[in-house]
Amino acid sequence: MKTDRIARAAIDPLSMRAGAGESAATATEYLPFARPSITALEREAVLDVLDSGWLTTGPRTKEFEARFAETVGSRHALAFNSATAALHLALEGLGVGPGDEVIVPTWTFAASAEVVVYRGAVPVLVDVDAATLNATPDTIEEAVTPRTKAVVAVHFGGRPMAIGELVDRLDRRGIPVVEDTAHAFPSRIAGLGGRFAGTIGRAGAFSFYATKTITTGEGGMLVTDDDALADRARLMGLHGISRHAWNRYAAGGSWAYEIEDAGYKYNMTDLAAALGLAQLSRAEELLTARRALAAGYRERFLRSGFDDLIELPKDAPDGSHAWHLFVVRLRLERLSIDRATVMDQLQERGIGASVHFIPLHMHPYYRARPETTPGPLPVATREFERVVSLPIWPGMTDADLDRVVAALGAILGSCRR
Ligand SMILES: *Cc1c(COP(=O)(O)O)cnc(C)c1O
Repeated sequence: MKTDRIARAAIDPLSMRAGAGESAATATEYLPFARPSITALEREAVLDVLDSGWLTTGPRTKEFEARFAETVGSRHALAFNSATAALHLALEGLGVGPGDEVIVPTWTFAASAEVVVYRGAVPVLVDVDAATLNATPDTIEEAVTPRTKAVVAVHFGGRPMAIGELVDRLDRRGIPVVEDTAHAFPSRIAGLGGRFAGTIGRAGAFSFYATKTITTGEGGMLVTDDDALADRARLMGLHGISRHAWNRYAAGGSWAYEIEDAGYKYNMTDLAAALGLAQLSRAEELLTARRALAAGYRERFLRSGFDDLIELPKDAPDGSHAWHLFVVRLRLERLSIDRATVMDQLQERGIGASVHFIPLHMHPYYRARPETTPGPLPVATREFERVVSLPIWPGMTDADLDRVVAALGAILGSCRR
């Protein structure tokens, strides 16, 4: 089919290849950095919605919200069209506004901090721990000022940060924590009784972007136990119009609605929710696959003969790592090659690799706004030079792992100092 060929050929700007089929890339074929795991379950779920006559927010979205809340054990789960939307609504609901500061780790994606700017507040960027690349309760608490209105806590790569301790410390100061859980579903934190990352702070935002651990193409979920915050996010996520507005064209729906505030258009479609329900039902299977790939990389690197030239990502001792990313670090002091060249050479060998992240404070927007970076960020600045994210997605084969490790070995082995 023509559209299928187009989909297969499409490569998005984040080096994720779209397309169907589970077959492993051959040695000459491009091995994508990420690829969603789509089975007959997802296909049938989406086709059912197409046949149902109801494409936008409706029964599938309500069901996805209910299942998600039940899975993570939160009072409310609200589906939106992105995690960015969920983060924005969380900050709006917490009353973040002009004159406020919100603390955000510099080691994150654009979304975590831009939502603070949407609110007219200042994102205050903080440094991360070298071992995990997560912000710590210390780096965050040191940045607290009388203007601090909230904290966005990121669980980088799928490894939860020390969220229990952070929330304890900030609760005492009356500062709410919003968890950016875009990388960390389904992470359960043993030290917190197996509670899910994203449910420890006042609110949590999950991402279902196409590269994330479960996907709806584009989508996000806001979870919270706070009734008032949930009500406000529900209102503002759909034009600020009164509850059940999504239902106004359904049988039994009412034509009447009231605009209570100037809101946003952030609702999830039933097409996306159907995909999400299928993916949610496979979350444990997908997590098991990611864990096996991380273990597979580890075992291969440890017997590769060049494991002294890299550092492997640390597993979480409590098994909470969701392995959204597998980030190795180059031991540049032992190499006569820089990271940019390693990236080019992986690309030449047909391997999709990436960099997570270019710290926010190194981007032009934040460089031009010194108020966002009151203190030095030496760890992030230094570690940025040597991180490489390798492909990790359910459906990758042992041969794919062999190929990535061999390619990196060939590139680094010839540049040993
Ligand atoms: C992907 C991502 C987001 C945004 O998710 P969207 O669903 O694409 O809006 C937010 N934070 C981090 C750390 C991410 O990686």
